[in-house]
Amino acid sequence: MKIAVYAGSFDPITNGHLDILKRAASLFDHVIVGVLNNNEKNGLFSPEERVDMINDATHDLENVRVMHFNGLLVDFCDKVGAKAIIRGLRAISDYEYEVRMFAANYHLNSKVETVFLMSQPKYSFLSSSVVKEIAYYGGNINDMVPPNVAEEVKKRVNKR
Ligand code: ADP
Repeated sequence: MKIAVYAGSFDPITNGHLDILKRAASLFDHVIVGVLNNNEKNGLFSPEERVDMINDATHDLENVRVMHFNGLLVDFCDKVGAKAIIRGLRAISDYEYEVRMFAANYHLNSKVETVFLMSQPKYSFLSSSVVKEIAYYGGNINDMVPPNVAEEVKKRVNKR
């Protein structure tokens, strides 16, 4: 059974994340979305809210499961029996950071491989921060995130 973990902050999940996730789900038997419970980053959504939104957006993907985790990604992979970490690459600017993350994870546990999937060009500008910024200024985010996420983001930024 080939299990992969797609890890990130997903604050919130975007159509770019979803595209990588769907493509990973077609390559592996199971993909676990690992939502990083990162206290340093002050998120728009709590890890529980992010998990709920991803669950809503992925209910048609039968081999995808969503969990949140703390601590080292390689330890989380061990816990869930994953031999691969999925990361998405948008542009050269992602590359340097991703190479460092790969090197650190490989040093910690060389049995877990990192698999990089390239973003489709139409999603290469998309990030959670871009979505939040556009929503904050009243811009249209409907084609950037799944419908349930667009609704939650609009509600949240209007409250602030
Ligand atoms: P992190 O805080 O770990 O960077 P993110 O939630 O921002 O987490 O992203 C998780 C993963 O998804 C990373 O590998 C990131 O490069 C990738 N990713 C983010 N946005 C896109 C996109 N638009 N297209 C493809 N991959 C993306």
